Amino acid sequence: MTNGIRLVLVSCCAPCSAGAIRQLAENGIDGVSEFVVLFYNPNIFPEAEYNKRLAEQIKYCKACGVKYAALEYDHDTWRDAVRGFENSPERGQRCSVCFAYRFKRAVKYARDNGYNAIASVFGVSRHKDQTQVDAAAMSVCDDIKYLPVKWDENLRLQINRESDFYRQNYCGCEFSIRKNV
Ligand code: SF4
Repeated sequence: MTNGIRLVLVSCCAPCSAGAIRQLAENGIDGVSEFVVLFYNPNIFPEAEYNKRLAEQIKYCKACGVKYAALEYDHDTWRDAVRGFENSPERGQRCSVCFAYRFKRAVKYARDNGYNAIASVFGVSRHKDQTQVDAAAMSVCDDIKYLPVKWDENLRLQINRESDFYRQNYCGCEFSIRKNV
């Protein structure tokens, strides 16, 4: 492992992460010496949808020549974690629990694999609240640092215009389908 910030970029899908990955791969960000894209999204339902988003994420990482990792799909355990918040709206309490659940696992991945920081693209969608995402991440980070990076929005939009990404029309969980958020 090299000195400096060794970053785990926590990603929900290829369309949201495309700009951040390109930014890190081509220009870098201050102090980051290496990074890996982490796909840990047990919130996604159904499993067929999870597999589509994972396949698209891997395809994009391979095209960019960047390291990536995918962790377990423990949707039943995720359901237990958000129990009681099923009817929360998007940007409500269920989403705070969901973000923290995924960040907690990302922190463990970072620690176990020699990384010392995490960042994410969970807040890039116009449906998301970056402040909520940042708070969830900071609630589980300790010796592993959280970098609240503001990614280049124009770059993300440009890549999405030029790409034929598989694009979902809901955030991920079954509750976001029902409520069409
Ligand atoms: S709407 Fe999205 S962020 Fe919120 S709980 Fe569902 S999958 Fe998680």
